[in-house]
Amino acid sequence: MNHYDLIVIGSGPSGRSAAIQAGKLGRRVMVVERFARLGGVSAHTGTIPSKTLRETVLNLSGWRERSFYGRSYRAREDIGAADLKARLHMTIDHEVDVLEHQFNRNHVDTLTGEAHFLSDKEISVKQPSGEVCTFTADKFLIATGTRPFRPDYVPFNGKTVLDGDEFLDMDDLPRSLVVIGAGVIGVEYATMFSALDIRVTLIEPRETFLDFIDRQLIDEFTHQIRENGVDLRLGAAVEKVEDRGTFVEVSLDNGRHVRADMLLFSAGRMGATDALNLKAAGLETDHRGRIKVDRKSYQTDVPHIYATGDVIGHPSLASTSLQQGRVAACHALDTPTLKESPWFPYGIYSVPEMSTCGMSEEEAQKREIPYEVGVARFRETSRGHIMGLEHGMLKMLVSLKTRRLLGVQIVGEGATELIHIAQAVLNLHGTVDYFVENTFNYPTLAEAYKIAGLDAFNRMPIPDEFKKAAKPKTAKKK
Ligand SMILES: Cc1cc2nc3c(=O)[nH]c(=O)nc-3n(C[C@H](O)[C@H](O)[C@H](O)COP(=O)(O)OP(=O)(O)OC[C@H]3O[C@@H](n4cnc5c(N)ncnc54)[C@H](O)[C@@H]3O)c2cc1C
Repeated sequence: MNHYDLIVIGSGPSGRSAAIQAGKLGRRVMVVERFARLGGVSAHTGTIPSKTLRETVLNLSGWRERSFYGRSYRAREDIGAADLKARLHMTIDHEVDVLEHQFNRNHVDTLTGEAHFLSDKEISVKQPSGEVCTFTADKFLIATGTRPFRPDYVPFNGKTVLDGDEFLDMDDLPRSLVVIGAGVIGVEYATMFSALDIRVTLIEPRETFLDFIDRQLIDEFTHQIRENGVDLRLGAAVEKVEDRGTFVEVSLDNGRHVRADMLLFSAGRMGATDALNLKAAGLETDHRGRIKVDRKSYQTDVPHIYATGDVIGHPSLASTSLQQGRVAACHALDTPTLKESPWFPYGIYSVPEMSTCGMSEEEAQKREIPYEVGVARFRETSRGHIMGLEHGMLKMLVSLKTRRLLGVQIVGEGATELIHIAQAVLNLHGTVDYFVENTFNYPTLAEAYKIAGLDAFNRMPIPDEFKKAAKPKTAKKK
């Protein structure tokens, strides 16, 4: 039978979670994936490979030990592309294995091939053998993600001029690398390769980068990556990229030229919608190939067709995609709809890493919310001394009116894990008093919350209940 309750197109995080959710609800569900292996951009060219690379780089280079043993310390002297890839393949194999097992356990059918709408109720799937099958469904979920933006002026060659999806397939490590685009992916790869002592130039045409992060944090981060050797060129537009055989040359509009062994072009991604024939389903995309949805239900303009993940645009994270897939599947299959909490974290796995949840100082100012700031440096914590951390900070914003936590921004070791304390307090409407009143494990980096909380608390007006408690009791008359 070629009819399903739900057909999911794409097996990345949002397609995966939607299909498993549908399976758990006992519905007939099929995932169509055009790539030979399940897992999407996230498992094969995006999140998992880049984060595995980061871990391998930090381990093999001995990065975390350098504050004790000196900047020249290396855990291993010669690190090649093969060393980086070995762990990558093992991790991806595990990831795909777990996913296949989850699909099997939840009775999710899978089919390898490219999906194409024939109408709003029917798709055809062209399999690698050339065979074409058609399927109908009550509901569809488009979870096809994105592909790298490849402008004509960049002479991509798959060897020395690469896009973000090709980058980790390199045969040899370059001695020098130029990265165009200081978005999350560009910054992550630039700083990882710099940790391998590769000469890295990071070019961003705008004067600022990662604008959703607090400026104080970015200043701290910029200082650290420059100290680590990244040549960050802001406000320099690219005029020309030339493949000169033995090197790549980038000409900037300020008259400067950058030469490197390899170039990574990492300035944006496009919705992977070209192959879908969306017109036949009654759907359109914007100029970047993205599909418009209702942000609560993830329904498109055709109500029985849903879309989730990167193909709908911001925030384009694996973490949010997973949640969107579950919400969409529940809505499509008429199951009490899951709610999404308003605050979710951003993680930037650069070296050093950064993570934020809630408002930045600039956002609080823009919204005219009176606030107080608390700051903790990792070097103030005992755990920081044990780990030899010279850098790293946690910045906390608290409302002066309600005492509620407004946001936390962290740069430094463990930032992407530590941020979840902030996320919980934000979503549970906690106040600065939470950090002051609660005991934290010692020694931990989480203690930075306590220090930042006390820092803000000590600068804020004393709340009435504290004043009452502090009043000396008058002696009872006999
Ligand atoms: C280098 C990099 C690093 C990243 N790091 C992080 C991170 O640290 N944390 C984080 O949260 N996010 C990260 N992301 C973002 C994350 O990878 C994406 O948000 C996530 O993969 C989006 O999931 P998705 O469900 O949209 O599907 P995707 O993972 O994009 O997968 C879509 C799938 O659909 C398939 N497909 C497309 N068209 C068709 C078709 N017509 N028929 C059949 N199949 C089709 C594709 O082959 C693909 O497998 C990173 C991304 C990149 C590129």
